[in-house]
Amino acid sequence: MPTQSNDVLIIGASASGLMCAIEAAKRGRQVQVLDHANKAGKKILMSGGGRCNFTNYDVSADNYISHNPHFCKSALSRFSQWDFIGLVSDYKIPFHEREHGQLFCDESAKDILTMLLSECAHAGVQIQLNCDISVVEKTTSGKFKLQTSTGNYQADSLVIATGGLSIPKMGATAFGYQIAKQFGHKVWPTSAGLVPFTLQPDDKSWIAQLSGVAINCIVSNQQTSFRENILLTHRGLSGPAILQISSYWKAGEAITINLLPDVDLNELLSQARTKNANTLLKNTLVKYLPKRFIVALLGDQLADSPLQSLSQKKCQEIAKQFHQWQIKPNSTEGYRTAEVTLGGVDCNELSSKNMESSKVAGLYFIGEVTDVTGWLGGYNFQWAWSSGWCAGQTV
Ligand SMILES: Cc1cc2nc3c(=O)[nH]c(=O)nc-3n(C[C@H](O)[C@H](O)[C@H](O)COP(=O)(O)OP(=O)(O)OC[C@H]3O[C@@H](n4cnc5c(N)ncnc54)[C@H](O)[C@@H]3O)c2cc1C
Repeated sequence: MPTQSNDVLIIGASASGLMCAIEAAKRGRQVQVLDHANKAGKKILMSGGGRCNFTNYDVSADNYISHNPHFCKSALSRFSQWDFIGLVSDYKIPFHEREHGQLFCDESAKDILTMLLSECAHAGVQIQLNCDISVVEKTTSGKFKLQTSTGNYQADSLVIATGGLSIPKMGATAFGYQIAKQFGHKVWPTSAGLVPFTLQPDDKSWIAQLSGVAINCIVSNQQTSFRENILLTHRGLSGPAILQISSYWKAGEAITINLLPDVDLNELLSQARTKNANTLLKNTLVKYLPKRFIVALLGDQLADSPLQSLSQKKCQEIAKQFHQWQIKPNSTEGYRTAEVTLGGVDCNELSSKNMESSKVAGLYFIGEVTDVTGWLGGYNFQWAWSSGWCAGQTV
């Protein structure tokens, strides 16, 4: 089979790979992108509930998890959220801000993918889909050589943009990590992030019956806390606050949920006991939380107790139950539903300026395959754009 020669080979035709391809091709490099999927940018299309939360107005290294928390700073400042917003604006893609500075397309995530593919076409990027890669090697001449189902390729630079392990149905593979290991890179153990929790049988049985209930609360673990909604589901706990804390959760750990962050429940009950002595406990709490949830958490008997029947000690216990609801997840739903993969290619062996390997000249790792994981809120795409852009300036 003849070998096709290029300047740059990029494996992965999605967020980070396409951004890198655009930038490299704009510099006059001949760029070939390879992907085993039958369509480019599948994760972009499914992101943000179909509206792609493409970045955030407020981006800093604090919004990322990595064994090297400083690594992402340089790339995020070289190609920032404002640069990507500029591109989206040039294409007149309508977008809007949701809470916490999150930016979503008004119409469809397809707008973002179409924009990236138009930029690729304009810059002369070639994209080969349905391409299964069997062998990757670096020859003594310094070129990278690939054997694939669509032919052999060689290039001076090889960029790995194959993402993480989340949503295997969408074509996620461990390919990037394998290539990293093949070339002597350290890969931090991976795990599912931004993922719902499954519960122990006792909790699951009552929470499943409240499927659909959403509560704005503060969810904490030993490390950090988030204030957003939690969502009770027939499988366990989900919603933005749960997805956020899941990225910090360690197996076996309990999480603490403050179900009434704006209320001092002990104080409220103490006062209500004298003013509204005959009011039932559940009717006092219903201003703040769904009645079904109150009854399920307290049990019928306590929920139906008149306030005057509650001792001060009991009020304190009830306040603790709502302010410090402790729940020990059984596990997470895993990569099947996770939005991201924690861990990955060790950043200490990559250049923070351009993502090049410090071990193998011409080899680059960008996007989610690296050990940089963003919070929920557009941060993962921003990392894909920023890291892809930076590599694109050098490859
Ligand atoms: C349901 C869902 C919703 C999300 N919503 C958001 C959101 O709104 N905002 C946000 O910031 N982030 C979101 N994310 C996360 C975001 O999609 C990813 O972080 C981002 O796509 C990572 O970009 P990437 O280019 O590194 O990898 P990916 O987008 O995962 O792309 C990797 C590419 O590599 C290809 N590939 C993989 N293995 C091989 C192989 N062996 N051979 C050839 N090609 C291969 C894949 O087919 C794919 O095209 C979401 C994720 C999911 C799963």
